[in-house]
Amino acid sequence: MQITRPPSSIASITPRTSTPVLSLSSNPRRIFNLTSFQNSNHAFKISHKSQSGFSNPVLAAMRSEDGAEVDDAFYMRKSVELAKRAIGCTSPNPMVGCVIVKDGEIVGEGFHPKAGQPHAEVFALRDAGDLAENATAYVSLEPCNHYGRTPPCTEALIKAKVKRVVIGMVDPNPIVFSSGISRLKDAGIDVTVGVEEELCKKMNEGFTHRMLTGKPLLALRYSISVNGCFVDKIGEGALDTGGYYSKLLQEYDAIILSSSFFDKLPSISSKEDTNVSIQPIQIIVASNAQQSPIVASSNTVEESGPKVVLFTAKELVAESETSSSGVETVVLEKINLDSILDYCYQRGLCNVLLDLRGNIKDLEVLLRDGLEQKLLQKVVIEVLPEWNTKDERQVASMEWLESKHLKDLQCKQSGGSVLLEGYF
Ligand SMILES: [Zn+2]
Repeated sequence: MQITRPPSSIASITPRTSTPVLSLSSNPRRIFNLTSFQNSNHAFKISHKSQSGFSNPVLAAMRSEDGAEVDDAFYMRKSVELAKRAIGCTSPNPMVGCVIVKDGEIVGEGFHPKAGQPHAEVFALRDAGDLAENATAYVSLEPCNHYGRTPPCTEALIKAKVKRVVIGMVDPNPIVFSSGISRLKDAGIDVTVGVEEELCKKMNEGFTHRMLTGKPLLALRYSISVNGCFVDKIGEGALDTGGYYSKLLQEYDAIILSSSFFDKLPSISSKEDTNVSIQPIQIIVASNAQQSPIVASSNTVEESGPKVVLFTAKELVAESETSSSGVETVVLEKINLDSILDYCYQRGLCNVLLDLRGNIKDLEVLLRDGLEQKLLQKVVIEVLPEWNTKDERQVASMEWLESKHLKDLQCKQSGGSVLLEGYF
């Protein structure tokens, strides 16, 4: 078992050893599965001949009769589509897609595959080659204007002599914020900002939240029956390919689960077929010895499985030393949501899911913290096609909390269930 020194910003954590906290880049699983990207630039280039262009009837329909006019929103949606090919892989960076359009034809496409790799604009410009000159670049997020691990994309766009840049949303990163737009304008490039802005913002809501607040976006998930009873399960097919739960596991960088899931962790993995098989970090919370089957477990977490991090309270450390191998343990003075989110932030995570299943008494304190301290931003509720006579709610009443009005409540069908999604 590895016990990790928590980040220094977590004041209430007591480190057990001097092992430094792992950064995202030192997570071997997340890196290992991405090596295919590192050796072949072609992995990010999507030939416009086969994927887009005039052979696409939808694109053709977007053009005006003289064939000269193009639809900015259409190409921005295409950029978003490209960006999402790296869903779940880019944290702490945002997902970004870019298409280069010349004379009404897509001549270059690219997306940002992961932190440390070139940005979407670089791949798209490389794909377009000389055709980028006098073309329009559509990019879902404002191009960067600073030297980070890669040179600024503004310079790449200027050097390629693009005529116009269409931007989905301004970069919330304070070191970029609008300076990319200014740099392009100063170079004489025509810049349009805010095309399909809501779509672009929604795609990177976790990145934006992390950038603005210093914490990852936290979403709560649970299931209820049609008569409003809490139900401790997910719907049939939810964890299969295309199921909503499988997709959530793809979208989120970490999932917080009750300790009663410890023996079932390998089964909680996304089945989505993507470029890379990347799974969220599984955070298990053991708040006291009675609630924690982990301390008595002799199981070993599979090396090849998702990364498992156990958060435990200080008084449990003696017992937890006898627990399973392959688990990183973080010891807190007292279990609290703020420290767990700080840990996730330090690891570069943008999106965290708190899943109310199993022995949810383990998670009661996190739920209370989330509501009381306004650390919960989002909720996903599965309404199962069931009428239950028993409410399986195990958490104490929180009637003392002020009632909340959810924003942007939306619903969709998933298998036999209905999903509700809204924001606090
Ligand atoms: Zn860039």
